Amino acid sequence: MTTITDNIERLSDRILRFERQYGRSAGSVKLLAVSKRHPVESIIAANEAGIQDFGENYLQEALNKIQHLSSMHVNWHFIGPIQSNKTKAIAENFQWVHSIDRLKIAQRLSDQREPSGPKLNICVQIKLSTEANKSGVELGEAEALCDSVEALPNLQLRGLMAIPAALPDLESQRRTFRVLAQEYSRLKPRYAQFDTLSTGMSNDFEAAVAEGSTLIRIGTTIFGPRN
Ligand SMILES: *Cc1c(COP(=O)(O)O)cnc(C)c1O
Repeated sequence: MTTITDNIERLSDRILRFERQYGRSAGSVKLLAVSKRHPVESIIAANEAGIQDFGENYLQEALNKIQHLSSMHVNWHFIGPIQSNKTKAIAENFQWVHSIDRLKIAQRLSDQREPSGPKLNICVQIKLSTEANKSGVELGEAEALCDSVEALPNLQLRGLMAIPAALPDLESQRRTFRVLAQEYSRLKPRYAQFDTLSTGMSNDFEAAVAEGSTLIRIGTTIFGPRN
């Protein structure tokens, strides 16, 4: 597992370098390790290398890992599409959900979250013009959905998330992220705890850091190719 340790060390150096290069303060970009399709051994190795936050896309796979690693004190982030019948298990097992693009799903998560425990942290997923998949709310509808999520008792609205289509060069990646960053800045003063811009994956995180990302979601660069 030394590769995972090495990968995280190299990646952390690059994040620090990009923070400096683009005028971001050191440590302002948090690293979420996306462990989907990788075994629990890889998660343990990443945790030993200092990673505290893990992202999963597929509920059953995630639940198996969460149960297996229940003694490990980490934050689990659900970052995949959500069907209605999955909300209860997500509300009960995760600390974060990044992929909210419908009020109905947010409402169910709030209803099914234990009211006496910590709130479930939520990012609203935005569909950008370059989007490859169908997930995400249109930029023009982000504010209305954020207002609704903010009003739900057992959720805590934390920010915005997006997964732009793969673009070949830094400049076009930056242009895409900039549109989202502007909306994030505009909405930020409206909400109590709105501090997360969840953008950037293995092949575009430099552009994301340059355009204000506060949380990058990295799989391949840490764990290698997925099975
Ligand atoms: C898989 C995935 C990632 C990680 O992608 P890599 O290119 O492997 O870094 C990030 N975010 C989401 C939503 C994903 O589904």
